[in-house]
Amino acid sequence: MVDWVYDELVLAADLVSRNGWTGVRAASPEARSLSALLRRGQLHGGEQLPANFRSGSSIQRKTYDLATADEAYAGKPTRGGRLDALVISAFRADITEMQARAAAIGTALNAGETLPLEPDEVDDVSVREGGILEHIARRRERDRGLRSRKLRAVLDGGGLIACEVCGFDFGQVYGERGEGYIEVHHVRPLHVSGETDTKLDDLALLCANCHRVCHRGAWITPAEVRLLVTAAEKTSAL
Ligand SMILES: [Zn+2]
Ligand SMILES: [Zn+2]
Repeated sequence: MVDWVYDELVLAADLVSRNGWTGVRAASPEARSLSALLRRGQLHGGEQLPANFRSGSSIQRKTYDLATADEAYAGKPTRGGRLDALVISAFRADITEMQARAAAIGTALNAGETLPLEPDEVDDVSVREGGILEHIARRRERDRGLRSRKLRAVLDGGGLIACEVCGFDFGQVYGERGEGYIEVHHVRPLHVSGETDTKLDDLALLCANCHRVCHRGAWITPAEVRLLVTAAEKTSAL
């Protein structure tokens, strides 16, 4: 059996959330269309998949698992059930956000995006919880044109090429080798902003550490990271 990845669970939980928090039958149009989408295997990086992979009945089974996973999570988590519980409780906590995420995953898959089997530059937590949207976001952030427009705008505005959260300046710390280095981060995640026309205001300049913290698990904004830093500084000063 091929383990369900986070994005697949989000799509299945989306069906549950639209079906009175219960599972869908294998023969239902919803199960059939999700089965057809997942069977393309894009979330498994083109891996060889078994013939019965994500069949209608496997969709049915998983949606019923998800529907009961909430209670299972409160009790003793079963093997493999932990991620189910995590996803369904995310839907319970913020249905608008999670349905938007499901829609964005569907859009990405329909556009032919494939999650690489071994994603680069992405930590385990991001892969598990960010999936294909995280993959697209990282690629978007590596866009050199966007990066140079942002840097130019900051310099033209009299700003510094330094981390907006902690002030780290690569040039100052590493000298010539670090000069001009900074990472560009999209403040709004893909399922919120959509993939079209990125505004320079949606981009933040961050050091590698603050950037990683923004992406770790569910995205938080640089402003929120700043609050974490301030709180931690207060604690350590006591
Ligand atoms: Zn920083
Ligand atoms: Zn980023």
